[in-house]
Amino acid sequence: MKLLKKSNFHGGIHPADGSDKILSNQQPIRILNPETVEISMKQSAGSVCKAIVKEGDQVSLGQLIAESSGFGSANIHASISGKVTEIRKTKDEQSNEVEVVVIQSSENMVDHTTSKTMAYQNRILDISGITKEEIITSMKEGGLIGLGGAGFPTHVKYETPKPIKYVLINAAECEPYLTCDHRLMLEYGYEILNGIQLLIKAAGAKMAYLCLEDNKEDAANHLQQLLEGQDLPVELVLLHTKYPQGGERQLVDAVIKKEIPAGSLPADIGVIINNVGTAKAMADIMFTKTPLIARCITVTGKVKNPGNFYVPIGTPYATLIHEAGGFTTKNNRVIIGGPMTGNSIMIGGELTHLEGSVSKTSSGLLVLEDYSLIESPCIRCGECERVCPAGLAPFKIDFAAIEDNINLCEKLYATECISCGSCSYVCPANRELAYRITVAKTEIFNLRREKGGKR
Ligand code: SF4
Ligand code: SF4
Repeated sequence: MKLLKKSNFHGGIHPADGSDKILSNQQPIRILNPETVEISMKQSAGSVCKAIVKEGDQVSLGQLIAESSGFGSANIHASISGKVTEIRKTKDEQSNEVEVVVIQSSENMVDHTTSKTMAYQNRILDISGITKEEIITSMKEGGLIGLGGAGFPTHVKYETPKPIKYVLINAAECEPYLTCDHRLMLEYGYEILNGIQLLIKAAGAKMAYLCLEDNKEDAANHLQQLLEGQDLPVELVLLHTKYPQGGERQLVDAVIKKEIPAGSLPADIGVIINNVGTAKAMADIMFTKTPLIARCITVTGKVKNPGNFYVPIGTPYATLIHEAGGFTTKNNRVIIGGPMTGNSIMIGGELTHLEGSVSKTSSGLLVLEDYSLIESPCIRCGECERVCPAGLAPFKIDFAAIEDNINLCEKLYATECISCGSCSYVCPANRELAYRITVAKTEIFNLRREKGGKR
């Protein structure tokens, strides 16, 4: 195993001491088969699909219910068998109308992930009979998107005309509290390694680096054991625990010592990056002929029994919190994702008021004790600049954003912000830096799109 002693990306912070992860990483993943799923036709930031089923239809597990409708979107499938009882409309964060397909279960979900009866779940397979084209077609038809958060359709990355040398498998899971990738590596090792060899072949790459932080040494040792004696071009890399180690640029910087130039993609320097959960999903799609219909999610924080759950896409968040024993605080703040980059979806409400459901990109459902912070004027301490992994001056961009000076935000490279939240975390004046910079960044991209320029 390769051990990189220093992750040499600029900036970064240590927002937690590890006790946050212990809440959920000690217990095996629990399987949950809900009676109802509510599948949003928006499964990632850039994609809104239209349902091709109607109320009253019977659908079977894995049946296509919405087709990819453009560059950033991917097919969506029924995650349980049953009857479509409702197709309702809701608003997304940008107030766009989005459909939600509600399916009432008619039978128990057939779980192909836990029975461990298939060859790819028990050994490294010979994939010489599978072509690159077959793998990419499986990704596309199976609705595979990045499970790490951004949710970009995976096949688009692999259709690049650029020569790819390395696949980087991102298993850093640097966000505090989240442990779903950690548990996947401990419990689904062969699925992950078979998925990685499919991704290497799809990319035409030389090899893959599987990158973990050193707070997951047990998972690294387990995978290393599975790799022993195998002729697989996969190398494990153990990186120091530092946030945001899992940022694409930070990972490339730390592992292959290259910089992704501003405005470029990893493919421009011969790299494709995928989350470790995406690698497992790749193997599930290829070897079970079942599309992406389920994922692992961490449910943690102020709940009675924190842990990780393997659930169909569309499982209501309220069902998950209920299964985790319910809230242990009335003063709750419910967050989708982790505390650094996640979005609050409810503050101080009852479980019956909690809306929303698991999407392909939902890695965590976190309940924290809510407290309000009051912003005060910037004291020019420079801390935000010191920790920014993108090398930005967050306080300067923040001033420009407050004055609505988008041109200045652009000149200060707001578009290079990775929305990691490190600046806000360290700011002694509690300034909402990451939020305002992210809003400015989105506005710059929208303006560029309107002008027909590239992102
Ligand atoms: S400016 Fe962006 S990249 Fe830099 S610390 Fe803040 S959120 Fe992270
Ligand atoms: S950390 Fe906060 S107070 Fe310090 S320079 Fe940045 S914005 Fe100002």
